[in-house]
Amino acid sequence: MANRYIPFGYEIVDAQVVIIEREAEVVRNVFSLYVQGNSLKTISERLNMMPISYAGDDRKWDKNMVKRMLENKKYIGDKDYPVIIPPETAELALKCKDKKCVEISENDKIKLDMYRAKACCAICGAKMKRSHAGSGERRRIYWQCTNAECDGNRHLFREKILDNMLLELLNELTDNLANIDYAEDRDYEKNIEVIRLTNEMNELIQKPDTDSGEVIDKIMELASAKFNICEAGDNSAITEKIKSELAILPKQTTVDGRVADKVIKSIKMHPDKHIWVQLINGKVFEKKESIL
Ligand SMILES: [Zn+2]
Repeated sequence: MANRYIPFGYEIVDAQVVIIEREAEVVRNVFSLYVQGNSLKTISERLNMMPISYAGDDRKWDKNMVKRMLENKKYIGDKDYPVIIPPETAELALKCKDKKCVEISENDKIKLDMYRAKACCAICGAKMKRSHAGSGERRRIYWQCTNAECDGNRHLFREKILDNMLLELLNELTDNLANIDYAEDRDYEKNIEVIRLTNEMNELIQKPDTDSGEVIDKIMELASAKFNICEAGDNSAITEKIKSELAILPKQTTVDGRVADKVIKSIKMHPDKHIWVQLINGKVFEKKESIL
C-alpha cells in the first residue's frame, strides 16, 4: 500500500479492523521508548534501523510520524479499534510530554517482578529474596538465597551490581544480535544422533538375517531423532523474537524491565558476583562483575 488509510498497526480484513501483530509490536516499543525518556528523533532513528516502514514503501520514519503515533487514541481503543496500548501507558506518554514522567519507578517495578520470578541461587536453585541495609545515602539493596541451609544464604548480592551486569549483557547482545543464535552444539549433537541411527539402519538392512520388526523399530527411532531437529527449528522462531525485541532497543543506561522480562527465561546468581542468564531460546550467557 502506498498510503495508509488506517493507522500503523492495523489492517482491514473482511470489513473488520484487525491488529497486524508485527506492526503492533513496533507501536508498543515506540510507547515504551518514549515513556523511558527517549526523544521523538531518537525513536524515529531507531525505527529506521528496522526493516519495517510506515506505509510499506521506502519512506523513512520521521519524528512527526512518531508523534502522531503517540497521540493516536485509536491505539487505546477509540472508535472501536482493537486495543494495542493500555490506557495507563498512553496516559504516561502524555505525562512525559508534559515532563511529568514518572516511568522510572514503573520500569523498576517490572524489573523487580522479573527478578522475583526468574532469579534463583546458582548454588542450590532456591528463589532469591530482596533485602536492604542502611538508610538514606547509605541504603543498600541486596538479593540473597532464601534457603537457610545454603552457602548462598550467607552472602549478599548487591542489586546495583546485578543491574549493571544485566545492563551490560543486554547492551552487548543488542550490539551483536548474532550471539543470540541458539546453541549450535545441541543441534550438532542431534545431527550426530541422526547420522548414527542412519548408519545403524543401513547395517541392519544389509544383514541377511535381520527381521523386519527390528528395521521398523530403527526407522521409528530415526524419525523421532529427526523430529527433535525440527523442534530446534521452532527455537529459531523464538530467537528471532528476541532479536526483534533487542533490535529496537537503544543503548540503555538502565535495564529496560519490559524487554528484559520478555527475553530472559532465568537468572542464576552466584554469591561471588557471577550470573548466568538464560534467554527464552535456551541460550545461556555468563556474566561476571566488570572491574571499573
Ligand atoms: Zn542457595
